[in-house]
Amino acid sequence: MPFSVKAVDRYYDPKVMPHIWCAGCGNGVVMMAIMRAFTALDWDPDEIVLVSGIGCSSRLPFYVNVNTLHTTHGRALPFATGVKFGRPDFHTLVVTGDGDASAIGGNHFIHACRRNIDITCILINNQIYGMTSGQMSPATGYGKIASSAPYGSVEHSFDLSELALAAGASYVARSTVYHVEMLPKLIQGGFEHKGFSFIEILAACPTYFGKFNKFANAVEMFNWYRDIAINIKNVDPVEGVPEGKVTIGLLHQEDKPEYIEEYDKMVERAKGQQN
Ligand code: SF4
Ligand code: MG
Repeated sequence: MPFSVKAVDRYYDPKVMPHIWCAGCGNGVVMMAIMRAFTALDWDPDEIVLVSGIGCSSRLPFYVNVNTLHTTHGRALPFATGVKFGRPDFHTLVVTGDGDASAIGGNHFIHACRRNIDITCILINNQIYGMTSGQMSPATGYGKIASSAPYGSVEHSFDLSELALAAGASYVARSTVYHVEMLPKLIQGGFEHKGFSFIEILAACPTYFGKFNKFANAVEMFNWYRDIAINIKNVDPVEGVPEGKVTIGLLHQEDKPEYIEEYDKMVERAKGQQN
């Protein structure tokens, strides 16, 4: 059935418009993809909890008509862990950014992956701290310009999907805001997966990353994502990923014991020993 914008209305809150995002920002594309995944699964908005930290991407819960929690910088995943423990029957997801998740929240991020708790983490990677005017993040990239690296960053970046995979996430996917049809499918796959699902989305910040790095406008940035992306299915197993390309698609999925279920079993074992 063709997609209709009307279909996502139940998850969208027009009362809080206008939004704060700049023209051409990728965050709106991600928000629509998330609402399309909700729609595909016909999830009850009252049974969804969307948690965020701080940053431009972390404003996303303001515009979505589900239960939301806007928390402190880098701490969305610990808050979401508490929510999931309290209401394991609810669908809990986190929206975060590259700065929020991999700098101040880096420790929380790797441990959430390691525990394999049944939360979906959607990381909007625009390679910069947008909200505070363009400082470099752990994903900015060697040689790239930021307000705190005006002569080019000398730091090497995390590959955030590889980091999630190495830390133990049982579902890892990546795409870009150019790939608008792929995004809802990867997010839906993460929602349906039992365990920690991680979806990294390369997203345009034309105002800072784009301007500093000589992109004329948002369209050039979206076309750049089109050009650097290679579907994981098209990677030659012998040659590997071509220089300068970034893999997109479902990168990893495995069945693995989920944290809350294992915790509950452990509690039952402890009770048995006391009787
Ligand atoms: Fe988007 Fe960048 Fe503007 Fe923030 S500063 S709203 S990330 S374009
Ligand atoms: Mg960012």
